[in-house]
Amino acid sequence: MTPTLLALALGATSCGGSSSAKEAPATASSSAGGTASAPSAKPTPRVIPTLPPGPGGTTPVFSHGSRRAGKRVALTFDADMTADQGPRAARGERFDNPALIATLRALKVPATVFMTGRWAEQYPAEAKSIGADPQFEVANHSYSHHAFASPCYGLPAVPRGGARADVEKAFAAFRKAGVEHTVPYFRFPGGCHNPAVLKELGPAKVTAVQWDVVSGDAFAKDPGPVAAEVLDKVRPGSVVVMHCTRSAAPATEAAVKRIVPRLRAKGYEFVKVSDLLRGRTAPDENPAPR
Ligand SMILES: [Zn+2]
Repeated sequence: MTPTLLALALGATSCGGSSSAKEAPATASSSAGGTASAPSAKPTPRVIPTLPPGPGGTTPVFSHGSRRAGKRVALTFDADMTADQGPRAARGERFDNPALIATLRALKVPATVFMTGRWAEQYPAEAKSIGADPQFEVANHSYSHHAFASPCYGLPAVPRGGARADVEKAFAAFRKAGVEHTVPYFRFPGGCHNPAVLKELGPAKVTAVQWDVVSGDAFAKDPGPVAAEVLDKVRPGSVVVMHCTRSAAPATEAAVKRIVPRLRAKGYEFVKVSDLLRGRTAPDENPAPR
């Protein structure tokens, strides 16, 4: 795969349909799993805001938070590792980025990490550390990082009917690595999805999370243009897509060091995707009737 295709596959360009924002002032819906809480006096479980399912129980899609709820922005980092990249890791290629996580901690920037199951298998201690830190939340970026809708920038396709199994395999990998603070959010590899896969994934009860700001960090060597793009495009409620992998996004940490103080100087607060979802009640996209 060419670097360009890989960059696209990594989410360098949005490939889901553009989304129209709906400002939804009503209260947040419900918690992970979507089931009613058990009748007991046990400690209240952590309530994770999700979007209600779309028509027919389809997976809802979220692209950004309210534009009218203050200057809040969510930096999201895709921890990409594809199912077939094990041999490259064995040869020393690093798909993780511990310095980036350390910088986010030092700058006290909350963030949502969309992790592949394969990444958690390769870096279980890092995955567990990120999940154990309340500053972060770990979301699902598939097990395989294969395409959930094709074509998708040359990514090999998840087997027909295998979308839900791939998502659940990633959650299983997180559990095996001991990752806490997982959230029922799913980011499609490359952002590629269609009504059929949203329907197929409905029973997985995840909220699909896209983005409204593409940082362009995939394969960027110079942090300057990445930072400039983010600073230019962020609006209140934005979800910014970046990457947590040295292999394919080597300038991201340096870009974050530029972005964070400048957005704070403009009055922005950094939040997690769950913070933006709190208070939203409608998906950004409804699947077309079939
Ligand atoms: Zn990705």
